[in-house]
Amino acid sequence: MMSDNEDIKKIKTICPWVNCPSYDGIVATVDVKKNKIIKIEGDKEHPQSKGYVCPKGLNDWQVIYHPDRFKKPLLRTTSGFKEISWEEAIEVAADRLGEVVKKYTPKSICTTMSEWPSVASFMKAINSPNAMTNRDLCQGTAETADPLTYGDTITIYRSSQDFKNSKCILLVGTNLPVSCGGQWQDIKAAMKNGAKLIVVDPRRCEAAKAADLYLQIRPGSDGALALAMINVIIKENLYDEEFVKNYCLGFDKLKEHVQQYTPEWAAEVTSLSIDEIVKVARMYATNGPASYRGNNGVCQHANSTQTCRSFATLISICGNIDVKGGNRLAQGPPGKEGSESPDFWSAITLDKEIEEQTMGAERFPLWAGPNSIMRRPHNPSLINGMIHNEPYPVKAWIIFWNNPVMSYASARKVIEAMKKINFLMVLAYTPSPTSDLADLILPIKHTYEFDFLMMSSYGCWVSAMPKLVDAPEGCRDSFQIFYDIVEKMKQKGYIEENLFPWKKSRDFVDETLGGGGPLNFETLCKMGPIAWRPKYKKYRRKGFRTPSGKVELYSERMEKFGYDPLPTYHECGDSARSLPHLGERYPLYLTTRRVHNYLLTRGSGYSWVQKEGQYPELLIHPTTANERGIKEGDMITVETPKGSIPHKAKIFEGIRPDTVNGVYGWWMPEKKSEENGYLDTNVNFLCSFYPPYDPVIGINCIQGVMCQVRKI
Ligand code: SF4
Repeated sequence: MMSDNEDIKKIKTICPWVNCPSYDGIVATVDVKKNKIIKIEGDKEHPQSKGYVCPKGLNDWQVIYHPDRFKKPLLRTTSGFKEISWEEAIEVAADRLGEVVKKYTPKSICTTMSEWPSVASFMKAINSPNAMTNRDLCQGTAETADPLTYGDTITIYRSSQDFKNSKCILLVGTNLPVSCGGQWQDIKAAMKNGAKLIVVDPRRCEAAKAADLYLQIRPGSDGALALAMINVIIKENLYDEEFVKNYCLGFDKLKEHVQQYTPEWAAEVTSLSIDEIVKVARMYATNGPASYRGNNGVCQHANSTQTCRSFATLISICGNIDVKGGNRLAQGPPGKEGSESPDFWSAITLDKEIEEQTMGAERFPLWAGPNSIMRRPHNPSLINGMIHNEPYPVKAWIIFWNNPVMSYASARKVIEAMKKINFLMVLAYTPSPTSDLADLILPIKHTYEFDFLMMSSYGCWVSAMPKLVDAPEGCRDSFQIFYDIVEKMKQKGYIEENLFPWKKSRDFVDETLGGGGPLNFETLCKMGPIAWRPKYKKYRRKGFRTPSGKVELYSERMEKFGYDPLPTYHECGDSARSLPHLGERYPLYLTTRRVHNYLLTRGSGYSWVQKEGQYPELLIHPTTANERGIKEGDMITVETPKGSIPHKAKIFEGIRPDTVNGVYGWWMPEKKSEENGYLDTNVNFLCSFYPPYDPVIGINCIQGVMCQVRKI
């Protein structure tokens, strides 16, 4: 903590958008006497971000002073929401959840945001396996495919790509200048040193404009490109023979398998030229060390796990794993090198017989249940359990800092489920379409209002996130909320023991730092972020964290559960190509993008992000617009087999003529109706709740959905 005078302090922390993977360093100027944040700026001394901070990070503190911020628990009554005390709120929560435990079983209670330790610990305390994550909606396919291949996730997290030291950077379906600006700074630095940048995206996004090679691929066909690149690289002997020989399993089978995936075949599938495919394969393989990053554009199709397996295979055979300038394996702090994150997950792992009851464990065994990678339930199955009580009833849903009405496929189904269950409890800062449907709303502290910790096992640093200001009196930290609910459930006899491990967030932080060891929270606050030296080729000592200890190009684990053991291409089941009878009616692909001030569905309702009455813009190619009589700024309707919503036309020649691009996560709080305008603007309303799902993780297709566009 740096002190200018007694009242004004400069405090180092990390950007509070903790589900943005950039984790950029922040210096906050705080008037301690007035309990007020005065200024937020980038931390120039942060080992990773070096002073960079994007508009989201600069402005998020304004949420603390938002006029609509929840400051008291709110209980739904027949005449609307009524303020209640915390004592009453804890009593209501314990009773309503306890009734579900008594009448059904703990697994009839689910939570969203399982990545947050207080939420996951609550589920362990009540013994329910249905802690939903949203990872299936963004990068769950990569988080499954990567560990299946080399035992770690190295293609999507910040700093798992060693961009700064790369000579070639491959970005697929990701626009880092907007989605993860901190990482884009690293790429720009590498390009100054001569690195080549390849961007694959249906839209000439900001990253594509800076690329040495830009490939405008057909949505959903990235896996075909990766397989053809593997074909070329093996055929031309451009792979890393030494790495393949010593560290990979199944190369001979792969070699035979990819013969079918020729550049000619891939050109037809991807709509790229044969020359482009051969060129990108050679560029990636011969300019090493090379790093790869995918993102939602790759991960949100109903064929994405195999796509991610194909890219994982590509980087493996080129020897770009855990080398300087490649994709790095996680490296915890000295003494804990093997750990990816603070080691609390083992403390909250459920017994095997409980995990076996996870919703979707039989259908998606590599996503849900004790044999899976993610150990999270299948979200559409849980929503089905809420609506139809099958395969078992789901009766209570706790949503922490999240907005499933906006983020899940098919908002109507989500709302139907929320209205059907016995109890919906939402922990939030400010209102959203999700909190509007709650039975009980609990106001939580902002990340700047409690002590927390951030560790990057890829960037090799740890930082304190000390409390900057006191929260409004009625707001609580989620650890305290869950502890109190579990305690009350125990007192009332709904559960036998209070197994919730921490009474407040600070207890969690202290335990994570090793409880009483030399590196305690106070030291960390004084020192600022602490970095450790990255090590490369760590697998030489310990092998890979796969069953064989090697890179599994051929995955017996996948084979055991009936999946293709080698990376394979299947057309996405929801495209006009796979459903030609619908192709004439819906000839376009609907993809989505993030706008700079948004993170996921967070943005609407914040005055620095969105003007009142503003509609999201749909990017459309001039030819496609002309054919439909559409001009810049016209109101248009986007229609899919699931429904239609209005957007505003933005003519953009940098998008494929067969593709349009909308904005994800947009709603209109100023409308103040029950729907908050989400029916007018939520592109996920146009996605299907039903299969086809990605066969491995069970995600619905939410990119490249077939659609038509008309002028209103
Ligand atoms: S890119 Fe923006 S939102 Fe993400 S961590 Fe950095 S400052 Fe925060």
